[in-house]
Amino acid sequence: MTDALSPGSPASSVGLRRKYRFATEVVTVDNSDDPHNAASVPIYQSATFKQKTAAGGGEYDYSRSGNPTRTHLENHLAKIMGASRALAVTSGMSALDVITRLVRAGEEIIAGDDLYGGTNRLLTFLATSQNIKTHHVDTTCSESVLPFLDPVKTRLVLLETPTNPLIKICDIPTIAKYVHEKCPNALVVVDNTMMSPYLQRPLELGADISYHSATKYLSGHHDLMAGIVGTRESSVADQLYYVINATGCGLGPFDSWLLLRGVKTLAVRMDKQQASAIRIAEYLENQGFKVHYPGSRKHPQYELHKRIADGPGAVLSFETGDIGISERIVEAAKLWSISVSFGCVNSLISMPCRMSHASIPAHIRAERSLPEDLIRLCIGIEDCEDLLEDLELALLSAGALPGLDAKAT
Ligand SMILES: *Cc1c(COP(=O)(O)O)cnc(C)c1O
Repeated sequence: MTDALSPGSPASSVGLRRKYRFATEVVTVDNSDDPHNAASVPIYQSATFKQKTAAGGGEYDYSRSGNPTRTHLENHLAKIMGASRALAVTSGMSALDVITRLVRAGEEIIAGDDLYGGTNRLLTFLATSQNIKTHHVDTTCSESVLPFLDPVKTRLVLLETPTNPLIKICDIPTIAKYVHEKCPNALVVVDNTMMSPYLQRPLELGADISYHSATKYLSGHHDLMAGIVGTRESSVADQLYYVINATGCGLGPFDSWLLLRGVKTLAVRMDKQQASAIRIAEYLENQGFKVHYPGSRKHPQYELHKRIADGPGAVLSFETGDIGISERIVEAAKLWSISVSFGCVNSLISMPCRMSHASIPAHIRAERSLPEDLIRLCIGIEDCEDLLEDLELALLSAGALPGLDAKAT
């Protein structure tokens, strides 16, 4: 169907800029081209679009190549990401798949050593079957990328900040500067899923590409899977669009609509989730647990995170010192569902080493100092007092608060 640069390819979003503050822009979806002035962007649940002439050439012809609901979503997300163009695909992993297709056999990727599990799996696949090698480095130290930067071979530098579940921070502007100085052809790519564009906008910090699992905060309700890629240069987006059209991973109209609906409340959801997360992190620290949260002054990169992001977010992890105790806490919590993922309006609790990160071999988990007793909390929009009470009851019944018997009676 439509080719990347043919006149028929829907020209989405190039050059849009924000006029108002984020919370205003995110709830304001431009639908001014609607023939009936619909308040909500309609779902164009159609695979094909009729053409006026034998030569075709209409704005839309086939939904793999372009669909009006998807275009509205892409324009809206480009605006809130500060991207020249954004593209919507079927999952976060699909977003990374599309990006990594810019890398040719023999070229290299530099990436963090504490990445999302699915990202590791895709990078391993590229190494074993496509002759694309990834160097994993500790991105908390910006200089660690330097020895691997090769002006000929390096194609992507892939960053995540904060990482999950250890909440390590990397200095996007400094690393981007190193990469661009030494490797003008390399692209700095940031997985911004954990922060969302409300709290962190990597394209404004020097990254070339930012992507999200929209399954998380962007949609906010755990009722769809989607991925979003945004680029600083529209020429990079054009190359990615070519891949999306060639492979057929563009987001369908119904999921595009659902995501457009969910993202409108991103700022209010995140404000509420973050305010509760700050209180819960404080509570756990006061009980003597080791807490990993960039909003804690004890976080080793507290100042760095504050410089690059507008808030600490709503995911934190803590150590109990004992795997059995951690298991009992997770199972005793009633308001907190035992679940992988994050970014939902409901609160979640999990032990990463047992669930989301179980696919990483134990010796590598140990090498990366991923504590087996680690508990991850993803804070939702429930009443914070209820969340704290429920957590305290779970800690008590698991025997994690030995000094608290007196206080409890
Ligand atoms: C969930 C997640 C992904 C993958 O997204 P899917 O939508 O599940 O494919 C990638 N990166 C991070 C940081 C994630 O949390």
